[in-house]
Amino acid sequence: MIVDNLKRLEEQISKKCELAGRRRTEITLIAVTKTQPIEIIKQVIDTGLKDLGENKAQELRDKAEILHDNVNWHFIGHLQTNKVKYVIKSAKVIHSVDSIKLAEEINKKALQIGKKQDILLEIKTSNEATKHGLSDEEEIFKLAEYCKDSSNLNLIGLMTMAPFTDDAELIRKSFVQLRKLKEKMNNSGFNLTELSMGMTNDFEIAIEEGSTMLRIGTAIFGQRKNN
Ligand SMILES: *Cc1c(COP(=O)(O)O)cnc(C)c1O
Repeated sequence: MIVDNLKRLEEQISKKCELAGRRRTEITLIAVTKTQPIEIIKQVIDTGLKDLGENKAQELRDKAEILHDNVNWHFIGHLQTNKVKYVIKSAKVIHSVDSIKLAEEINKKALQIGKKQDILLEIKTSNEATKHGLSDEEEIFKLAEYCKDSSNLNLIGLMTMAPFTDDAELIRKSFVQLRKLKEKMNNSGFNLTELSMGMTNDFEIAIEEGSTMLRIGTAIFGQRKNN
């Protein structure tokens, strides 16, 4: 079932890339494996997919210990400062940096293990109270400057979650906002290449609007029992 789902998803992504005039190779598909057991995750890895996403720090640590070979782990959930220690060894990219305090802790822990940590800033592009991330532009630029000045942080882009809605234009608005913010930041001296946006319900719009990292769970694994 998972192999079929992935095949179908891959076809949809390729088709959308073609329609949008983009190359498939510009986009990384991250399989969001949260709540999925190891046996299921192995089926995904066996298809050649290397990028996996988790939203809980200890869960990422535990899974990384078992599946140590050849996985690019993406930490996509809200990260508390005291849990950075669980993800710092394994995370290829931390998608959810949203405060100087967190950036400082990641830099410190990365320094300790001699690693330069790739990070994204999480931006709140909708009004939903449940969503994390920064929305104030001044604050965003301040945090970005802080990251740029940190020896062991490598700021490579921005991440967002679109509002939970069927309204395609509202979703698009979120993604356009993220893309424009990235352009604005690059115009003032940053060098951001990544836009982490697009989940099961909105990845096609995200591709149209320039996503370089899709975070997809349900379309691959089916509905999650819990979260
Ligand atoms: C769970 C999750 C996803 C994947 O969502 P699906 O709708 O299952 O594709 C993507 N991003 C984040 C931050 C998540 O927590």
